Amino acid sequence: MEKDYVNAMEEVVTTLVKVLMLGPEYQTFCQCQKCLNDIVALSLNTLPSHYVTTDEGRKRVFEQLNTNENRKWINKRIISAIHLVGKYPQHQKK
Ligand SMILES: [Zn+2]
Repeated sequence: MEKDYVNAMEEVVTTLVKVLMLGPEYQTFCQCQKCLNDIVALSLNTLPSHYVTTDEGRKRVFEQLNTNENRKWINKRIISAIHLVGKYPQHQKK
């Protein structure tokens, strides 16, 4: 079976993590690929998945998630993941 479904929440979180990490308040946090992956994975573990199989489905989910209230709690979970990864980074020590 061809995999033709995606977790729309994953796309939302990946974008939000990139945007947040560009912000001035996160400049001191490690931006390596390993840390970014860990932040996304940790956030996704605490957020509900929203699997979709069509572009229309994906658009619908994006619209549902793109309200002030939803953005607020999603950002909150991501921010705690950023802090957790910042405190206990899993990347190779230089
Ligand atoms: Zn790192």
